[in-house]
Amino acid sequence: MFDNLSTKLDRAFKTLKGQGSITEINVAATVKEIRRALVDADVNYKVAKEVTDKIKEEAMGRDVLISVSPGQLMTKIVYDELTQLMGGEKQDIQIKGDPAVVLLSGLQGSGKTTFAGKLAAYLKKQGRNVLLVACDVYRPAAIDQLKVLGEQVGVEVYSEPDNKNPVQISQNAIEFARKNNKKVVIIDTAGRLAVDEQMMAEIEQVKRAINPAETLFVVDSMTGQDAVNTAKTFNDRLNFDGVVLTKLDGDSRGGAALSIRAVVEKPIKFISTGEKMEALDMFYPDRMAQRILGMGDVISLVERAQQQFDEEEAKRINQKIRKNQFNFDDFLSQLEQIKKMGNLKDLVGMIPGMGKAMKDVEIDDDAFKPIEAIIKSMTPKERAQPELLNGSRRRRLAKGSGTDIQQVNNLMKQFEDMRKVMRTMNKMSQTKGGMQQMA
Ligand code: GDP
Repeated sequence: MFDNLSTKLDRAFKTLKGQGSITEINVAATVKEIRRALVDADVNYKVAKEVTDKIKEEAMGRDVLISVSPGQLMTKIVYDELTQLMGGEKQDIQIKGDPAVVLLSGLQGSGKTTFAGKLAAYLKKQGRNVLLVACDVYRPAAIDQLKVLGEQVGVEVYSEPDNKNPVQISQNAIEFARKNNKKVVIIDTAGRLAVDEQMMAEIEQVKRAINPAETLFVVDSMTGQDAVNTAKTFNDRLNFDGVVLTKLDGDSRGGAALSIRAVVEKPIKFISTGEKMEALDMFYPDRMAQRILGMGDVISLVERAQQQFDEEEAKRINQKIRKNQFNFDDFLSQLEQIKKMGNLKDLVGMIPGMGKAMKDVEIDDDAFKPIEAIIKSMTPKERAQPELLNGSRRRRLAKGSGTDIQQVNNLMKQFEDMRKVMRTMNKMSQTKGGMQQMA
């Protein structure tokens, strides 16, 4: 995400590094490079100019502190301005009313239906009783797609395949929700390939009829300036409450994320970063600015880990580690948990400094496949007692899992190393009371 922009901004800051102080001349050169980097990232020109003018003004007004270099100071100034540009504070989705109604709008292919599923999963996780509503009266396939997603996340889907009136369908769905104790209704509407009058009139009518607590506009971030223009058109008609940026895991240049707020004056509320139902994040302008500047995003990483990790399972594993009983069954269960957290490359990108380093490295969930295959080839007894795995058993595992003996030996070594670290931590926790609480 935003790799190119990050690299270019980094280069711009380098022009300041090694300089003892910020002068008008070197600020002007740096700011020009920053502006070019933003325009190359498909940020609207006017927005890029405004933000870099502000950066320049800020930089000139500052005394360089002894403790920071001009480059660091500039990074901080740019970080503050990018955060402001993207809206400053995080804005939450409004879940109000009984039921609370969320209306989704956007072009076909923007990722609207996928997002409907993700939002349903997200709200369900908060303990809410959610209903998804398929309101695309033109594409029967869209109804089926939502049903599949609903089933995947365990949320009921309301549809009326023979009714061609979206206003009626959404009103009936809300009635259905009231009768069936559903507290949130998410309405997925029809999209077209391009903005057209009939679609606009239709969704406008739906909005007027049901008066949703929240109207969200879903847009594909890979479409850059087009995303911003489409957002403007939709907002002029719908006066929506927030934006959902999708496909930020793709080769997005970042322009949409950076300029939508300034052009449309509506906050981005969610970002979608993959096809998995878990790949949804709240949008934090400050964290996004950190990511763009290659500062990593440890906070989001930790939060996602907290959301996906199963508390009970973590406790059980901790117990086993304390008793030196961690075995291959536990190892497998930990792998499952990590996979649930979403796209691996994305996760790595959130670690400071790693985003850039990993830019050209391909990592995907397949990286775990050989390890899983080896563990799954073990008998239950072998998994529970890894010390049983002698040479001949290891050869059998390699054969059974379609790997080679080297890979099996590597895994055994990693596993042993892991157990060693665990044993050391155990000893420490027994000697130092403080560590005990961490375990
Ligand atoms: P709709 O026509 O607006 O309902 O769009 P869909 O939800 O059907 O999405 C269109 C395509 O984009 C599908 O193939 C989705 O799997 C894919 N998609 C949706 N969101 C994301 C995302 O965040 N990242 C990626 N890589 N693909 C996505």
